[in-house]
Amino acid sequence: MEVAKESFTVMTDSVNKLFANKEPWQIVSVTAASVYASMWLWDILSDSEGICKKSRKTFFKWARKVPAVRRIVEIKMKKINDDYITEVEERLKTVNCIGVLPKEGLSGEDLIEEVNKQLSLGNYNWKDGKVSGAVYCLDDELRRITTEVYGLASYTNPLHSDVFPGVNKMEAEVVRMAANLFNGGPDACGTMTTGGTESIIMACKAYRDLAMERGISKPEMVVPITAHSAFDKAAQYLKIGVRTIPVDPVTLKADIKAMRQAISSRTCMLVGSAPNFPYGTMDDIEAIAAMGEKNGIPVHVDGCLGGFLLVFMREAGFELPPFDFSLKGVTSISADTHKYGYAPKGSSVVLYRDTKYRHYQYTVTTEWPGGVYGSPTVNGSRAGGVIAACWATMRYFGKDRYVEFTKKIIDTSKYIEDKLRTIPGIYVFGKPATSVIAIGSKDFDIFRLSDSLNKYGWNLNVLQFPSGIHICVTLLHTKPGIAEQFIEDVTREVTLLMKDPEKPVEGKMAIYGVAQGTPDRALVGDIVKYFIDSNYYIPLNTGEKKPPLKNNNEE
Ligand SMILES: *Cc1c(COP(=O)(O)O)cnc(C)c1O
Repeated sequence: MEVAKESFTVMTDSVNKLFANKEPWQIVSVTAASVYASMWLWDILSDSEGICKKSRKTFFKWARKVPAVRRIVEIKMKKINDDYITEVEERLKTVNCIGVLPKEGLSGEDLIEEVNKQLSLGNYNWKDGKVSGAVYCLDDELRRITTEVYGLASYTNPLHSDVFPGVNKMEAEVVRMAANLFNGGPDACGTMTTGGTESIIMACKAYRDLAMERGISKPEMVVPITAHSAFDKAAQYLKIGVRTIPVDPVTLKADIKAMRQAISSRTCMLVGSAPNFPYGTMDDIEAIAAMGEKNGIPVHVDGCLGGFLLVFMREAGFELPPFDFSLKGVTSISADTHKYGYAPKGSSVVLYRDTKYRHYQYTVTTEWPGGVYGSPTVNGSRAGGVIAACWATMRYFGKDRYVEFTKKIIDTSKYIEDKLRTIPGIYVFGKPATSVIAIGSKDFDIFRLSDSLNKYGWNLNVLQFPSGIHICVTLLHTKPGIAEQFIEDVTREVTLLMKDPEKPVEGKMAIYGVAQGTPDRALVGDIVKYFIDSNYYIPLNTGEKKPPLKNNNEE
């Protein structure tokens, strides 16, 4: 009884805190992915002891069974769901929504007009280079060419290699060119995938199956806290255990000693980021590779974000530590052609040091009446057009242009980093390795700065545990005046905020502080699920406006 009362208080308290004075849950304007990633991060950071984390989870799960607590949660959740939906309705009020396939088709002309209307929704001028990451290159001529190339190959499917051998050849060439850039030897190999997440899932699948073949029944990956949430996603899909290790609080690089201690007989892979998404810092890949080699454990280097910058950096005149297959212990690398490879969205590569690893990535079924079926990645049918467009992008620019772009991006990033370091009241996290610069503040709530910059059209990424924001510099930010404008805006806004540093964050950014402070992580998870739901909501004129929330105990 005593415990029940206590849990009730803690729970209602946390719920009330969560919703106090919050305006409609405007979390919508930020990607669900980042919220997800950060929740996972907090759980682990706030409790390095897994047991503590587990008991807290159990506690909240149990607390939610208390009827009074459950009712409060349900009422609040309904409100959140409604707010999300209202927000979508507001966002889509200028366009028609369609729920049933219209009887008659549209002409090409009308369709293009319709598509342009949909694409003009949204408030950010992303073409002006004010959005962090997201769009890595915007070149009219490249876009014309990749569009034409996609069109030529849009109905091809490399699953049928006998029918479309040329598409397979283009994929093989993209993989080979990438393997070469990452210093792969003659045995280096890989596949294309649909994006960084799939590349990571594929490497995790390969190492899980390899470990199982070696007799490890419950494989575990050892992953720095800053590694991309795709590893956690892979672990969820593939039922791999996750041992998360902390990063050094100053350098924001994986704690090598902690990694060594986390290795067990179950370890199926070690992970290092080159660089990581939150802070743009690069783990000590040399040390991780040596540790993997010494213990006979595969090492995956996640170069999804910065890989296609790193491989050109030396030639662009920058020094950097080894991070690729030149290190013997590195057994696989993921790198996104749709980020700094500048290809249209939908492509990435996963590379292996040796063909023996790649076989564990493949899936083969031999007993299906439809035939013996083998496929390299998650997909069965694959988009030949995306492969062709990626191949075309690499051939269109050629190495020299990639080196030139890399120089521009790193120069711009270093300019931004250097200037940010001179602004009193904020600090830069660690030493950015490529194009991501993250900042925090010891004097004021950094989310206030994000909020202020929003007013000037800047859209930055939000970090938590501790609070921070980052800018990911792309080719769009290298245009004259953009970086200078950013520094000018940050300098002016920080100066203003420093006049009243204690003021709490307001508006939509408040949600992040709240999300960090909520001890019941499952609650935060549920909210994110409603947010994702809202992305699939369209207001239809069918009488019933809002989809009913699936709850038993509604008011
Ligand atoms: C973007 C990113 C990924 C995932 O790639 P997607 O293409 O978004 O699936 C993985 N790791 C890092 C470091 C990234 O920045």
